[in-house]
Amino acid sequence: MIEDIYYIVFDVIPTEQNQEYANIENAIVSCWIQSTDASSSYIKATFFIEKADWIIKKNTQQPIVVIEENFIDREIGLENFHIAQKEKMSFVYIAKSASVITPTEIKLQSSYKFDMSKFLTKLKEVSEKGRCLHYQAGARCDEIINAHSIQNNRVLSKIANKKNEIYALSKNMSDFKKNDGYLGFRRYPITKFSIFRGFCGIHDNKLFEPIDKSYYKLKDEQQIFLYAYRSLAKEFFDKENALNMYIDMSEDVKDNLGLYKQMTSFTKGSKNACNSLNVHKNIYDNVLKSKIYDDMRYVSFNSTDKFFMAFSNILYPDYDFNGNLLQDLSNTAKPFDLITFCSAPTEEGWSFIFSWHKSSDNSCLTFIQSLKLRMQQGSDLGDLLFKFILLNSENFAFSPVWWESLSEDNQKEISQSITNMMQPTMAIRKHYLMNGLKGTSNWSFETIFDNLTTVSKK
Ligand SMILES: [Zn+2]
Repeated sequence: MIEDIYYIVFDVIPTEQNQEYANIENAIVSCWIQSTDASSSYIKATFFIEKADWIIKKNTQQPIVVIEENFIDREIGLENFHIAQKEKMSFVYIAKSASVITPTEIKLQSSYKFDMSKFLTKLKEVSEKGRCLHYQAGARCDEIINAHSIQNNRVLSKIANKKNEIYALSKNMSDFKKNDGYLGFRRYPITKFSIFRGFCGIHDNKLFEPIDKSYYKLKDEQQIFLYAYRSLAKEFFDKENALNMYIDMSEDVKDNLGLYKQMTSFTKGSKNACNSLNVHKNIYDNVLKSKIYDDMRYVSFNSTDKFFMAFSNILYPDYDFNGNLLQDLSNTAKPFDLITFCSAPTEEGWSFIFSWHKSSDNSCLTFIQSLKLRMQQGSDLGDLLFKFILLNSENFAFSPVWWESLSEDNQKEISQSITNMMQPTMAIRKHYLMNGLKGTSNWSFETIFDNLTTVSKK
């Protein structure tokens, strides 16, 4: 993806935490920001200015793309253009001070030293302690187990190598650097992958027995529901933990304007996500209690090919396979429509299953229809589905045999696509399902089953 250098200028005044608060009334800050588009460059610039203890008063130069030639004969400009090329961004503050007569260069330091590791440690503690999310959870749920959001038996063990390892997205920062800033993959033992301590042993065993002890029998609605339920529970567990972390963080950064604004916006987003998930969890719990699956929809794509990729997740679908908007995720007035997707091994091969509750029909039916339309237009179903997972989930694992059989270019294309999706702008998001990553998965599906025949779009 091509990134340009944007030049932006603001009038700013120091906050009370700014080390120059006593000396400076106002300043002009020039920014050189590497970015894919003007609005992201603007967001990045304002965040770092506010983080450095300034209040933005006015944007005197809107973001414009600049090139080296713009700064010929302008030494400071050229120098900062080069810094932005290398380090993604550069800022120059120019201020007049009553107490300083000759031009002086001052290195400014942000007032706040942010200790991310403190919060990550806490998040890890909360996740490891765990809690039972079963609707009948109570005092007897004392033994929380290492449940897998993707099953260990049958699913992960089926794609693992002889040492019981799979490939998953690396959580190691050194891989990130080694990979030129793109996410890398790393071998993990299956016992370490996709664990979540969201159920006690008794409830986990009882609840998921039909999918843990048997292969997916095509069209089995109870099994489909349990796969969906497990994906939802994992997301609910993670989001609730993250919300608590953001609340703690906001409290901690109260005195730094930039970080506080950023953290409260994360907290707000996280709270909305939890509220929405809570609504869906209640709906799914009711289905679980009644054991009646009539209100659940599914589409299952079934393959007799060898199973090499395990995944399970949920999504609030925002764009369909043709780039049309399905639901506006910035409008939090009502819960978002939610779709779940997972891989399920079968006796003969495996299935890709989409599933959702009828309350999410509005977005999900259109979403599935757009997939059918793309197929009718000649797009490869395997390519579309493979790309869909990579760009909407971190919770997936590859079989080592398959990953190591890919060319370096293929591996790189996968890493780059995923990395770009992690910081998407609207333009990327709108078209994300449309092109790219062709011919990598070679997935083919012999049959497609669904229970949508009786359903029509509202
Ligand atoms: Zn329990």
